[in-house]
Amino acid sequence: MISFLSKDLEDFRMSIRNFVEKNIEKNAQRWDEREEFPWDSLHALGEAGILGYGIPEEYGGNGTSRIKLVIAIEEVARVDPNSAFIMEVESLFDQTILLFGNEDQKKILKDVARGKKIGTFALTEPTGGTDVVGIKSTAKKENGKYYLYGSKYFITNALVADYYIVFAKTAPELRAKGITAFLVEKGTENFRVGPPIHLTGFRGSAIAGLQYNGAPVPPENVIGKENEGIKVAMTVLERGRVNISALALGMLQRVFEESSRFAKTRKSMEKEIFEYQYIQGYLTDMLTDLEASRLMVYNTALLIDKNESAGLNAAMTKLFVSEALMKHVKNAVEILGGYGYTRGTVVERLARDAHNTTLSLGTSEAMRLVIAKYIRDMR
Ligand SMILES: Cc1cc2nc3c(=O)[nH]c(=O)nc-3n(C[C@H](O)[C@H](O)[C@H](O)COP(=O)(O)OP(=O)(O)OC[C@H]3O[C@@H](n4cnc5c(N)ncnc54)[C@H](O)[C@@H]3O)c2cc1C
Repeated sequence: MISFLSKDLEDFRMSIRNFVEKNIEKNAQRWDEREEFPWDSLHALGEAGILGYGIPEEYGGNGTSRIKLVIAIEEVARVDPNSAFIMEVESLFDQTILLFGNEDQKKILKDVARGKKIGTFALTEPTGGTDVVGIKSTAKKENGKYYLYGSKYFITNALVADYYIVFAKTAPELRAKGITAFLVEKGTENFRVGPPIHLTGFRGSAIAGLQYNGAPVPPENVIGKENEGIKVAMTVLERGRVNISALALGMLQRVFEESSRFAKTRKSMEKEIFEYQYIQGYLTDMLTDLEASRLMVYNTALLIDKNESAGLNAAMTKLFVSEALMKHVKNAVEILGGYGYTRGTVVERLARDAHNTTLSLGTSEAMRLVIAKYIRDMR
């Protein structure tokens, strides 16, 4: 029990946990093995209203409480990180539209909240994701329309999406001040999805590149104002980091459950391996980092709910939780021995999935750059 979480929120967690254990968990292994997008999961989460956290009720969602959203992502990640990743990326889409979109764009969210339509957030390019200002995509205005040229890479949900938020340069000479966010609809002329990307983990995330060579976009599909795309991207990414931290937290919780259960049942030299001090050390440190991770994730979510500045906390949280997950999933494999390295075990899958959490929404190196910037400005 977290001291500052209300009983209502603990009850909320249990209701999500019961639902996902019953409806999502059974297929997690299959989606990974077959590299299959988890459609059943998306539909079940949509029907249950779980995809609607983070979206106001007037747009078909379940309210904007960030603490509820992170608890939901955490609980989905505990049973299936891939489904939680889809939620996490969709929330980047939702937030972009909610914070910067116009009324017509916001109407789309109703179908997204129910799992009937899928949105993506396309910023990274083949030449690099960390250097956001260095994107090469351009948008040229001709006869009242924008025409997009360029490509994107590592776009989660791309193969199954209905909507793509694409960042491109409308005034390349202005660098950071010349980027604009566009809403591109599936089927737009000269807008091609592909190639598919085959990941080590999160194998059902329908991830792919995008190619566009003169894709027309009407001016009403600009999100926010022309040349203010960097503000859109940074605001959404900054806050979105708490969501991927929640995903890593749910995975770490599962890593702890799997490895402590194994340690208490596996025997070696006539004793449960839990009785060996090395194994206890792995588990004591895992549980301690799990508690610290949870406190950081919830605190950052509560800052966002209070509309307070959360950029530093979100970067520190992402850095800490994703690195903790990487460290402890390795130790979980040690605890499980050969079983931790065998296809079909949960820990083996989590070990493959874990590395994505230090990469997506900014690498650990990028998080340190963000944190250092805050330190430089501190008095
Ligand atoms: C599974 C997965 C899903 C993703 N989904 C999406 C998505 O939906 N939408 C999207 O837009 N992107 C997505 N990404 C892209 C992700 O955001 C990028 O991979 C990430 O930002 C890093 O970019 P990069 O891979 O091009 O590496 P690079 O930017 O080329 O970096 C390579 C290395 O250099 C380091 N580096 C780079 N610049 C600096 C610097 N200035 N200082 C110190 N170190 C530096 C990096 O930390 C890294 O270690 C996804 C990535 C993955 C793996």
